[in-house]
Amino acid sequence: IIKPDAVRKGHTGAILSQIDQAGFRIVAIKRQSISKSEAEGFYYVHRERPFFNDLCAFMSSGPLVLMVLEKDSAIADLRKLMGATNPASAEEGTIRKKFAGSIQENAIHGSDGEDTAAVEIGYWFAGYELI
Ligand code: GDP
Repeated sequence: IIKPDAVRKGHTGAILSQIDQAGFRIVAIKRQSISKSEAEGFYYVHRERPFFNDLCAFMSSGPLVLMVLEKDSAIADLRKLMGATNPASAEEGTIRKKFAGSIQENAIHGSDGEDTAAVEIGYWFAGYELI
C-alpha cells in the first residue's frame, strides 16, 4: 500500500517506478480512499497499540494505492526496499528513507509474511481483480 502521506505529496509515480525497477510484477492496483473502520479491520493486530487510533485516522485521511505484487522472495525483498518502519532508521535509498516523514506517516505498507499477505490481499481485492 502506498500510504496517504506519499500519495498526498505526489510520490506515487516515483514509488511505483522503484517497485517496478526492483523486478516486482504488479498483479493488481487501485487508488481509493478507505473508511476508518476499514483501516481498523486491516490493522486489527495492532488494536491494543497506543497509536492504533491515530494510525487508522491517518490511513483513512486521503486516497492510497493498493497493490498486489509478485516476485521470487517478494515479501523479504519488498520489506528491504521499504526500509525500517521509522524512516530515521531506514537505510539510504529505501522508499521510507526517501519519501516518509515520520514513524506513522511512513509512505508504504508491505505484508510481513505469506499468511498475512494472503489475508491482506483478500481484504482489499476480489479474486477476479488478480490478473
Ligand atoms: P511495518 O510492518 O514496518 O509497517 O510496521 P508495524 O507493523 O510495526 O506497524 C504498522 C504501522 O503502524 C507502521 O507502518 C506505522 O505506520 C505505524 N506505527 C508503527 N509504530 C508506530 C509508533 O510507534 N507510533 C506511531 N504513531 N505509529 C507507528
